[in-house]
Amino acid sequence: MKRVDFRLRLLLAAVLPSLLMAATLGVFWWNWTQQTLESALRERVTATARQLATAAEIPLFSGDVQSLSGMLDSIGGGDADLLGVGITDPRGVVLVKSGEAHGFTGTPPLSLTWRQEHDDPRWHLVLPVVPTPIYIDDMIRPGAASAADDPLVPLGYVVLDVSLQRLDSVRNNMLILGAVVITAAILLSIILMIRLARGVIRPLSRIIKGVEAMGKGELDARIENIQGEVFQPLANVINQMAEGVKLTQIEMQQRIDAATLELRQAKSRAEQEARIDSLTGLCNRRAFMERASDELLRARRYGHPLAVAMIDIDFFKRINDQWGHAIGDQVLMAFADILKKSMRAVDIIARIGGEEFVLMMTETPIEEAMQVAERIRKDVEAASLQLGDTRLQWTASFGITILYGDDYSVSTALVRADKALYRAKDAGRNRVEVDLQDVTTD
Ligand code: GH3
Ligand code: MG
Ligand code: MG
Repeated sequence: MKRVDFRLRLLLAAVLPSLLMAATLGVFWWNWTQQTLESALRERVTATARQLATAAEIPLFSGDVQSLSGMLDSIGGGDADLLGVGITDPRGVVLVKSGEAHGFTGTPPLSLTWRQEHDDPRWHLVLPVVPTPIYIDDMIRPGAASAADDPLVPLGYVVLDVSLQRLDSVRNNMLILGAVVITAAILLSIILMIRLARGVIRPLSRIIKGVEAMGKGELDARIENIQGEVFQPLANVINQMAEGVKLTQIEMQQRIDAATLELRQAKSRAEQEARIDSLTGLCNRRAFMERASDELLRARRYGHPLAVAMIDIDFFKRINDQWGHAIGDQVLMAFADILKKSMRAVDIIARIGGEEFVLMMTETPIEEAMQVAERIRKDVEAASLQLGDTRLQWTASFGITILYGDDYSVSTALVRADKALYRAKDAGRNRVEVDLQDVTTD
């Protein structure tokens, strides 16, 4: 709808001035044709009349009607616009005529006179035939100041009847020709304007469509099939802009993806770090508490046995003091490796303090837990670090407990395991002790 409106307005803006110009030209043409043709005809007829008046002067003076008649015959039908030619006496009575010449009545005119009866498609020309004066001084009328003041009485009149039909038909032809030329010019300008309007509207519509698609996020949309000195560069510039936007978008997306990935990795790293002991790679206290709570709930729900062991390296302070903190760390790592190797994947191994570790063994009754602890204890005892010439060896103490019916949190089980551990320490270290309560209830 908008497009149609625009096209119509463009067309009107282009055609209206031509129409106005054509109307002005038409009026001018009408007037000019009329005036030019009329004055040409008048001049021609007047010339004929004057010529005749000069020639008729002597015959009229002498009353030689025969000569007059001969003169008219010689003019004959030479001029198609002349209906008739005649010569009258001074009162307007026709003496001789050729064709449809009329005399006149009333006051005879003193000079050339054009007459036209109302609704009569012809002109009547009346031209006095005045004798050429030859002035002789003593013949000037007494009282006349000069010869020029002496009025000359016409000897007769030349009368001509002129047809206006041919004039009208020529004028009509001229007007028709003018109308045809102007109409052709207007049609031509309309055709040119329609072509011009198409040349503007088509590429504009394509450009608008393309820009709308780009605006909606279709970054692969391009403006194609545009020709013309004005619109093609415009379409090229818009296409280049779209290409730029697309590249920027791709680049932005890549950056966003990279940043998101980095963020995810950092997040997972942070999460891991928060849950994993960086020295040994085992669970830290927090991770242990979370996982152990889940296992505890599961064991309670299904009535499965669950064992917990607290382990503490014996005289670790001495190792640090004697060999340095770094060697102490190596001992901690070697100890963690022994635990990892000895335990099943379903078990939870954690470092919950400096040289304190905890194990949660799922579906494990106390006897089995004691066997596992004993095996680990022996493995630790047998393990060593070669430090130059010296073999560094160490031991660990174990305190074991199992899940009881009133255990609703991991902490209570840990407290019992800790108590058993202290008993192991008190009893001389490098040993496995079981929670006493367990022994009594068992
Ligand atoms: P006990 O047999 O009674 O357990 O004696 P202990 O010396 O092992 O006990 P104590 O708790 O007195 O000593 C633990 C030491 O462990 C103290 C501390 O310096 C050391 N320690 C704690 N964390 C680390 C660590 O990450 N690396 C090292 N190298 N030493 C640590
Ligand atoms: Mg300790
Ligand atoms: Mg210790």
